[in-house]
Amino acid sequence: MKIEKLLRENIKNMSPYSSARDEFKDDVTNMVFLDANENPFESGVNRYPDPQQKALKAELSKLKNVPVNQILLGNGSDEILDLIYRAFCEPKVDNVITLPPTYGMYKVLANLNNIEEREVLLTTCFQPKVKEILEVADKHTKILFLCSPNNPTGNSFSNEAVEVLLTTFKGLVVLDEAYIDFSSEKSWLERLNEFPNLIITQTLSKAYGLAGVRLGVCYASAEIIAILNKIKPPYNVNELTQHRALKRLLVIKKVQEEIDALLEMRAKMMEKLKSLHFVEKVYPSDANFILIKVDDAVKRYQQLLKKGIVIRNRTTQPLCENTLRITVGTKRENKAMCSVLNEL
Ligand SMILES: *Cc1c(COP(=O)(O)O)cnc(C)c1O
Repeated sequence: MKIEKLLRENIKNMSPYSSARDEFKDDVTNMVFLDANENPFESGVNRYPDPQQKALKAELSKLKNVPVNQILLGNGSDEILDLIYRAFCEPKVDNVITLPPTYGMYKVLANLNNIEEREVLLTTCFQPKVKEILEVADKHTKILFLCSPNNPTGNSFSNEAVEVLLTTFKGLVVLDEAYIDFSSEKSWLERLNEFPNLIITQTLSKAYGLAGVRLGVCYASAEIIAILNKIKPPYNVNELTQHRALKRLLVIKKVQEEIDALLEMRAKMMEKLKSLHFVEKVYPSDANFILIKVDDAVKRYQQLLKKGIVIRNRTTQPLCENTLRITVGTKRENKAMCSVLNEL
């Protein structure tokens, strides 16, 4: 597959903004920096951040076993998804495919970028309809969005289906692995180099506990990463974010302990939910949330809200009639929710 062929014409031809920090890359010790119009008085953040986030990428590279030139960082995965749209999708000409019920940002970004979005519903078991997806694609279909584990359904897509799509679909496949750390399935990251059209996105917002700092991670071929690098805002990941994210990656054992604790509580919560008379179905989960089908989602949502428990009502999503999505919280939070559920 020729990635170059998928690229928008204006992106091919543009040259990126060259920042002061980009132009000067040599050893920085004992240098006098009068090149970027910064305020020289030291505050910890008076200098522009590293536009290539070298320290952070080096740690991620070690952790995930992916070379630095195959990693791009963004202001949350949402910025990365937007960059992918802007690099490859010509407004009013190209289209993308999404598989509802799924993460809402794919559609929002399609609308924002004036890109047609074609929807192919998942099966009733929330798996991709491979044949239908391939039929809906045409020569202007640039991106297929796969979310696995999927939000809001919580399940992982079958590896066979993903592999067929990766090898048969003639555009880019964006595989959103925001919840991969909670999954019983392996990440596709170790097979990244087998598929030149594969873009994997992950995030520090969920398992890593850093939703507030906004850090999304994108893994792809060096060629795709170079394209996204060319169009990203030069300082898209700020100094505070780089600092906190690196700090977190350096205590990866602690992150894993939290994930283990959440998985244990997820199992407990699942059992509890199954025992409730108004719960008709508890869907399996490979994520840090559980989707349930209840007798009357609007009513149950309101009842919980009145008692101070906020969950997500997903009843208006396709295939999700009368479903609620519940995030796994701390022991205390889960207990609080369960005691309210018991009273209903
Ligand atoms: C939460 C979530 C994200 C995270 O987005 P960020 O912008 O990195 O916080 C991405 N994809 C899915 C499917 C999610 O549910």
